[in-house]
Amino acid sequence: MYSDVQLFIDGKWQPAQGGKTIDVFNPASNEVIGKVASASKADLDLALKAAERGFKQWRRVSPYERSKVLRRAADLMRERADKMATILSTEQGKPVGEAKAEILTSADLLDWFAEEGRRTYGRIVPARAAGVYQLVVKEPVGPVAAFTPWNFPVSQTVRKVGAALATGCSIIVKPPEETPASPACLGDIFKEAGLPDGVLNIVYGNPPEISGYLVPHPIIKKVSFTGSVPVGKHLAALAGTHMKRATMELGGHAPAMVFDDADVDAAASILAGSKFRNAGQVCVSPTRFLIQEGVYDRFLGKFVDHARSVKVGDGAADGTQMGPLVNERRLEAVEKLINEAVSDGATIETGGKRIGNKGSFFEPTVMTGLTADMRIMNEEPFGPIALVMPFKSFDDVVSEANRLPYGLAAYAFTKSNKTVTDLGSEIETGMLTINHLGLALPEVPFGGIKDSGYGSEGGTEALEAYLITKFVSQAGH
Ligand code: NAD
Repeated sequence: MYSDVQLFIDGKWQPAQGGKTIDVFNPASNEVIGKVASASKADLDLALKAAERGFKQWRRVSPYERSKVLRRAADLMRERADKMATILSTEQGKPVGEAKAEILTSADLLDWFAEEGRRTYGRIVPARAAGVYQLVVKEPVGPVAAFTPWNFPVSQTVRKVGAALATGCSIIVKPPEETPASPACLGDIFKEAGLPDGVLNIVYGNPPEISGYLVPHPIIKKVSFTGSVPVGKHLAALAGTHMKRATMELGGHAPAMVFDDADVDAAASILAGSKFRNAGQVCVSPTRFLIQEGVYDRFLGKFVDHARSVKVGDGAADGTQMGPLVNERRLEAVEKLINEAVSDGATIETGGKRIGNKGSFFEPTVMTGLTADMRIMNEEPFGPIALVMPFKSFDDVVSEANRLPYGLAAYAFTKSNKTVTDLGSEIETGMLTINHLGLALPEVPFGGIKDSGYGSEGGTEALEAYLITKFVSQAGH
């Protein structure tokens, strides 16, 4: 079922020139399941030329026709959802059901981009003189270089590819080497949907080498990255040096605030579902659980019960609710953060250890006794770890929520309209969801502020990032 992955350049699958490959592992067994081609500079040059040609052609295709291609791709993705979900689960670890949900969400994203691409309106500004027309026109920015991570290898890639194609850009995307085969399905899907060769190119290899070559390259006009804050800062600086527009969707350390007046049982159940999804390897995962004193004990008890009930196992096995972490490196990073916190005085309420010695499985973990100076309270754990701590007042919780340099997602549970309104204005975040989980739908903005990055990957804002504004003032002769 799982096969080796090549590079998709100018509409053709091809091995890397020089023949270099990288091993791909199944994180449930840590066994090698395949190989992915590792691009050389010569391959990147081919991709760049293809993207340059592809852009010249695709920008002239009407938004109406582009929309049809994207819609066909969405339908093909739905038809292939079961197969793609199995591939995704095998290389990434998440349960097959969760993987299928990711594929279906990706198809919805493509549908939405297909429609929204037809609405990239400009405007006409009234002129000072008769016979003059002042046009504000939106045009595609040009060939894009995009870098996507392994936690949602299909949907994160689709967010970038969909927005680029809908606006008339061509794109070279580098999906993650850890999970290359599921995003690779996009190559065949778009080809069959009628996308001209060269408009979508998919490469893999050494990430710093590829970004170091593509970002400064004059053919590339826009950069989009999803991943960690340090890499994002590096790429944003590189893009800035070469005056490239950039979208950065980086990490977070999301506060989840539960007030005394909240439905505590619902909050514990909803937040536990969100915390352990994808083994906590989610940029918007709730991480700091800030619980008002009156409901702290009840919340903690309920949340620990939920954590203990999560069925951890191979993503391919029936009933698995949480798969392994993506690789041993992540597992070691998570173990180290927890051990450090414990030696600094934190308490493990449940979990805290790897499971078995085959595969990168880790226990759903709940910790208390945390202080602001601990590393785990400052760095994104990116694992199945909930950090639970009490708070007294509204001001206290806002101050803790806003303490970190991140500002991606925030969660809150309260029955007070005043608290809802005040949170809306006080929390420094790109996205805030109150009394339910309402993030990441195709039609709403998705992105962060502060160190969590800039730009948006959902809503109308997602398309803005791939468009330039041109002003044309025209008078009759
Ligand atoms: P990492 O920082 O080594 O890599 C993160 C991603 O960036 C990977 O996909 C990697 O291939 C890519 N990358 C690394 N250096 C790059 C470069 N110079 N140019 C282009 N791409 C580059 O971290 P990791 O161990 O793979 O993941 C752990 C951390 O990454 C997490 O702690 C989390 O903060 C972050 N992350 C965030 C997201 C997200 O959705 N925002 C997704 C995955 C990982």
